Amino acid sequence: MMKINYAIFLLILCSFGTTTVPDEELFYAIDKDMPFLTEFYKVRHKSPELSLEEKNTSKALADELRKIGFEVTENFGGYGIVGIYKNGKGPRILYRTDMDALPMYEKTNLDYASEVTTEYNGATAGTMHSCGHDIHMTTWLGTARAMVEVKNSWKGTLMLIGQPAEEIGAGARLMLDAGLYTKFGVPDYGIGLHSSPTIPAGQVGFGKGNTMANTESIDIKVFGKGGHGASPHMAIDPVVIASMIVMDLQTIVSRNIIPTEPAVITVGAIQGGIKHNIIPDEVVLKLTVRTYSEETRLYVHKRIREISRGVAIAAGLSNDKLPEVIIPEEFTPANYNNPELVDKLVASAQRVLGSDHVVGAERQMVGEDFSRYGKTEHQVPTVLYWLGTVPEERMKSGDLPGLHSPFYYPEPELSIKTGVTVTSQALIDLFNGG
Ligand SMILES: [Zn+2]
Ligand SMILES: [Zn+2]
Repeated sequence: MMKINYAIFLLILCSFGTTTVPDEELFYAIDKDMPFLTEFYKVRHKSPELSLEEKNTSKALADELRKIGFEVTENFGGYGIVGIYKNGKGPRILYRTDMDALPMYEKTNLDYASEVTTEYNGATAGTMHSCGHDIHMTTWLGTARAMVEVKNSWKGTLMLIGQPAEEIGAGARLMLDAGLYTKFGVPDYGIGLHSSPTIPAGQVGFGKGNTMANTESIDIKVFGKGGHGASPHMAIDPVVIASMIVMDLQTIVSRNIIPTEPAVITVGAIQGGIKHNIIPDEVVLKLTVRTYSEETRLYVHKRIREISRGVAIAAGLSNDKLPEVIIPEEFTPANYNNPELVDKLVASAQRVLGSDHVVGAERQMVGEDFSRYGKTEHQVPTVLYWLGTVPEERMKSGDLPGLHSPFYYPEPELSIKTGVTVTSQALIDLFNGG
C-alpha cells in the first residue's frame, strides 16, 4: 500500500473528528504475534484430526479463545465451538473456521509434516491437513487476538465459530441444527476464507454471486440377470448396462443443459462383479454432480433417472429390475457471495494490501458447506474469500499441487499474516459501519 497517501488520508479523517482508524496499531499487533501464530500453525499441521474427530483441535482453539477473554461454548454440533466477544453496542459478525483434515499420507517432506495415522473405513490411513484448514484455524485465532488487541477501535459482537466436519459436508448443518442462530443470535454478516492452491501467498481473491457449486453424491444401482460369462445370451449383463448409462450421462451436460449454464457429472466409481467369467447381477455407479442453480440441479436429477430407466428397459429388464437412483436429500448448497459485502471486503483488503494484491477469482465447481450460514431463513449476507497460500518457489516453477494433494503445502507465515490482516481490517470496517 502507499503509506504516504494513507498518512494524508488519516490526517484528513482525524481533522473531521472521525473515530480512530487503527491500521498502524493493527499492523503492529499482528507483526508482534507472528512467531506465536507460526508455531501454533505447525503444531496444528502436525496433529490433524479427521471429520467428526476434531476433539483435541477444538479444545486447543477453545482454550486459546478463553485466554483472551472470549466466552466459549464447546461440543456445539459435534466438536463445534462458538466463541463470543462482546465489545459494546454494534453489529454482530460471524467468522468461521473449519477444523478437520483428510485421510491421506502427507508427502511434502516438510520438517513439520504430519506423521499421524488413523483408522479410516476399517483400514489404517494417514491424516493430513491437505485442504489448508490448519491455515484457516491459525488465521482465525490470529484475527481473534488482533481484534482483542485493538478493541478500542471497534464496537460490536464478534462471533467466532470453529466448525467440524467440513470435508464431509456435515459440520455447518450440525452447528445450525444445534441452534447456532437461536442461542447466539443471528449475525449481521458472516465471513470465512479458504486457502487457494493457485493464488500466491500475500494475495487474496474474491468472486461475487455463486462462487462454488451445489455438490451432490448420487448412487445408481443397476440390476441385471447374472450368469456364466460364456453364455451372455442367457443373462442380462449389468456391466454393459452400467457402461451405457455412463456414456449416456455424458450427454446431459453436452446436449441437454443450456451451454452457458455450468454443470458437471462425474462417475467416480463403478463397482460390480467378482470374477472374469461371471456376469454379476448388480453394478453400482457413484456420481458426483455439481450445479449452480436449483433449476439445473433438479433437471439433472430428472435426466439421470430417465437415462438410467431408458437404458435398462432397452436391455430387456422387467419393471421390478429397473435401476434404483438414490439421491440423498442432504447436499452442500452452492456458495453465494453477497455482492455488496464483497465490495466492502475488497475495499478493506485493497486498503491494507494494495489493489495489486487483491484479485478477482474464477467460479469453481468445488463445494463448501460455509454456504449454509447464508442460506437459512435469516438470509445472512455471507462471503467466503480465497486466501493465497502458494510459496514463491512454487509460483516460479509452476508446480502447483491442488488442495487434497499429498504434495500441497502453503507458505505459512505470509499466508497467515495476510489472512489475519485482511480479515481483521474487514471486521473493523464492518463493525464501524464500513
Ligand atoms: Zn477440502
Ligand atoms: Zn477445505
